[in-house]
Amino acid sequence: MMTKPCIISVAITGSLPQKKDNPAVPISVSEQIESTQEAFEAGATIVHVHVRGDQGQSSSDPERFLAFKNGVNKHCPGMIVQFSTGGRGRESELRGGMLHHRPEMASLSTGSVNFPGMIYENHPLLIDELAKKMLEYDVKPEIEAFDLSMLYNVEKMVKQGLLKSPVHVQFIMGMPGILPANKEVLKFQIEQLNKVLPDATWTAAGIGRHQLTLNNWALELGGHCRTGLEDNLRFDKDRLASSNAELVTRVAELTTEYGRTVATPAQAREILSLPASH
Ligand code: ZN
Repeated sequence: MMTKPCIISVAITGSLPQKKDNPAVPISVSEQIESTQEAFEAGATIVHVHVRGDQGQSSSDPERFLAFKNGVNKHCPGMIVQFSTGGRGRESELRGGMLHHRPEMASLSTGSVNFPGMIYENHPLLIDELAKKMLEYDVKPEIEAFDLSMLYNVEKMVKQGLLKSPVHVQFIMGMPGILPANKEVLKFQIEQLNKVLPDATWTAAGIGRHQLTLNNWALELGGHCRTGLEDNLRFDKDRLASSNAELVTRVAELTTEYGRTVATPAQAREILSLPASH
């Protein structure tokens, strides 16, 4: 039944330095481009990116985002670049400050949620403002759904004209404060998405050790997969992942077990209703 190609999205670099960081996490823009190229060659067709400053700190520098996009466009033909507008370690007024560089996609959270030890705050006005900027610069949002309520907010925003159909939603699971990595909950979210936005596409992402679990469930349930060192630093409980490409390779190999294939850049673009080339 399921012969549909799976888009593999790679989240190469987390927004904040982590306590137990993995030296394989690319920090400088040139490291990020190199890591992305390896992941692209392993099968990833979307790269989700946060940029970092010279000391490895979170950064909102639009020029770094632009340099990354240019490098990926050059070295990874057809790959879709997705800028993060995520808030950890960034001031809210700077979170959309690079959208004028027109990445093909950008992340957009449609609600606030608690993360371990912090509030991931997305004020209603900020959500609308980011959505408007994405419309203005022709950027397709990837909706980051940390909670079920965020899905219904998407439905409302589509009705208001703040989001264009078909939308692409990412279900994120498996961290304290957000939805747990629970298959019944994922299935329920997919059912609801299919009801309220029947033409939407979806990806699932699991945090930490749940990454591989969500990769399996997404393949089984007909969705798309996200992997990468932003969400998970380990290959398994015994060792750290050696690269983003290693995590992508693992998902690419899994696709055959579910009768799926790895989406090519052209297929990914078709599935997401993005232009064939840029
Ligand atoms: Zn991110």
